[in-house]
Amino acid sequence: MTATGGGVHAYIGIGANLGDPEAQVRESFVRLARDLPQTRLTGRSRLFRNPPMGPQDQPDYVNAVARLQTHLPPLELLDGLQAIECACGRERDGTRWGPRRLDLDLLLFGDQQLELPGLQVPHAGIAERDFVVLPLLELAPGLRVPGLGSLEQLAQRFDGAGLLPVMEPGEAVATAEGRG
Ligand code: ADP
Ligand code: MG
Repeated sequence: MTATGGGVHAYIGIGANLGDPEAQVRESFVRLARDLPQTRLTGRSRLFRNPPMGPQDQPDYVNAVARLQTHLPPLELLDGLQAIECACGRERDGTRWGPRRLDLDLLLFGDQQLELPGLQVPHAGIAERDFVVLPLLELAPGLRVPGLGSLEQLAQRFDGAGLLPVMEPGEAVATAEGRG
């Protein structure tokens, strides 16, 4: 559904490493734009391939971030994100940082700091995760993370060496044509 201006900018961290991770991340953009009431998808980063956090005996991740403009309260937005995870075939087996078809984390909800049952915002892992901070910087360079300061400052601790940009559909064709 379409939101008519106003609302809050929320940022979503997206990750997948089972099935066809790239396809699931792209599908999540479609669903974020289409399945959440009172919400618009207003931007997204590129996709990045990235080694797993935690248990190493699992496939690489594909990660990205998206920006929403929403009139939903934060817990309803989280419900909507979890419904999209389920629609994309996510099964929760309780393993933290375990493999998954789709993980949607609510990174930021405007400038709010929230400690609710089942929801901490800003998301607790932001500062340590290059696959969150660097795509966020690409999408919203001037952003401030409540309680942590500027994104630009957070990004200084990462060199991005582990993040491999995934080619966009059509990119290879454009390059080949460019050469011809
Ligand atoms: P993780 O992403 O840490 O690997 P899950 O996606 O399974 O793990 O999430 C576990 C729980 O984390 C969810 O049930 C949710 O209630 C809670 N949670 C707390 N804060 C957030 C947040 N900002 N975004 C998403 N989930 C959150
Ligand atoms: Mg999660």
